[in-house]
Amino acid sequence: MSDTTTSAAAQVSDFRLTPELVEFQQMIRDYCRDHLGAADVVDREPRFPREAVRAAAEKGLLCTTVAKEYGGTDLGNLASCVMLEEINSVCASTGVTISVHNSLVNSLLGKWCTDEQKRRWFPKLVTGEWLGAYCLSEAFSGSDAAALRCEAKRDGDHYVLNGAKLWITTGSEAELFVVFVRTGEDRVKGISAIVAEASLPGVSVGKKERKLGLKGSSTTEIVFEDARVPADCLLGAEGEGFKIALDTLDGGRLGIASQALGIARASVDLIRGHLGQQKDHKGRPNASQPDQWQMADLAADLDAYRLLTWRAAVMRDRGERCGTESAMAKSCTARLANRAARAAVSILGQGGASGATAAERLLRDARITEIYEGATDIQRLVIARGLLA
Ligand SMILES: Cc1cc2nc3c(=O)[nH]c(=O)nc-3n(C[C@H](O)[C@H](O)[C@H](O)COP(=O)(O)OP(=O)(O)OC[C@H]3O[C@@H](n4cnc5c(N)ncnc54)[C@H](O)[C@@H]3O)c2cc1C
Repeated sequence: MSDTTTSAAAQVSDFRLTPELVEFQQMIRDYCRDHLGAADVVDREPRFPREAVRAAAEKGLLCTTVAKEYGGTDLGNLASCVMLEEINSVCASTGVTISVHNSLVNSLLGKWCTDEQKRRWFPKLVTGEWLGAYCLSEAFSGSDAAALRCEAKRDGDHYVLNGAKLWITTGSEAELFVVFVRTGEDRVKGISAIVAEASLPGVSVGKKERKLGLKGSSTTEIVFEDARVPADCLLGAEGEGFKIALDTLDGGRLGIASQALGIARASVDLIRGHLGQQKDHKGRPNASQPDQWQMADLAADLDAYRLLTWRAAVMRDRGERCGTESAMAKSCTARLANRAARAAVSILGQGGASGATAAERLLRDARITEIYEGATDIQRLVIARGLLA
């Protein structure tokens, strides 16, 4: 073997989780078994999975991206991905609530807050006493985030916020909003990030969305009407908001990629259970070959895309830029979740379409993984831009 081959081999891990992460994964499986039994009810009624989120907080699952000195477990992005795949394989409404709190809010605050700001907000966020929400999208600003109009005007030692954010996950339940606002005219450098507490006068929950999937998760409009936010709630410097938003989404997309992996895995499990029951008169498996091929392809993609997701998570944990890799993970896993859930509904037939199994819920939940935190075609643009840069 040449020296180059030897040193390359030495750098490649064995693609398995460490014993500590395997133990953590088992703890999450126990949590799912004990607290996510109501996933169907949460979807059907629909209702916010408050008990499940509270139990997650008690187990320290709302602070995996917070440093230990601020009360977090600091397990990082890879552990968060492992956790979110498990939770989303059972209840994606609970999964997205936990993903947004950890990957979009806590990790953003950990990176961009001053020490004083962290000491102000983390004690409540790490215990789950407060939930966080990430407020970027508006009526005319979705994929084109820099088109946002919600404004913040400086007035003495306050900013006065006016405007509305749309489609905000955990909107009706959150006590802390990270809000992206316009503080200047420049399309990109005129955007700033600020924390607005939900209890402030002038901050209110508007329209509640009726959604296709993730029905248990709260998705609302958040309205700001002359809301006076103390100037010391600004994150970073004025004009850094767009940079903060995009950097945070690189990590957030790993949460959604893990959600998609969880949905895909649950779909493959349903297919395997269904085909496994089909036996000939001698008790040998006799599921149709096309169904077996579909299952085989989905299972292979699931393993491949999990590694794609974990690669980006490890890069982010090392402090490396992972925009391209994280977009690859999200676009591949989200499309896989949709293929897998669609196959589950088809292969299970009546049981897939009727709600007698989780298949139709998985299909409705899967659709959304291709829309939020960057639609699939936007991810493809991000990847292409990364490759051509
Ligand atoms: C359930 C749910 C929860 C959400 N939670 C949050 C939240 O917590 N916080 C938040 O800020 N937002 C949230 N959103 C909003 C979400 O991030 C946006 O829906 C998303 O960014 C897409 O924006 P849009 O809906 O305006 O669609 P559009 O931007 O109009 O996109 C529609 C389609 O057009 C395509 N498209 C758009 N522009 C281009 C282009 N330049 N090139 C090629 N194709 C293009 C897209 O790929 C997509 O397929 C949530 C959305 C949903 C559905």
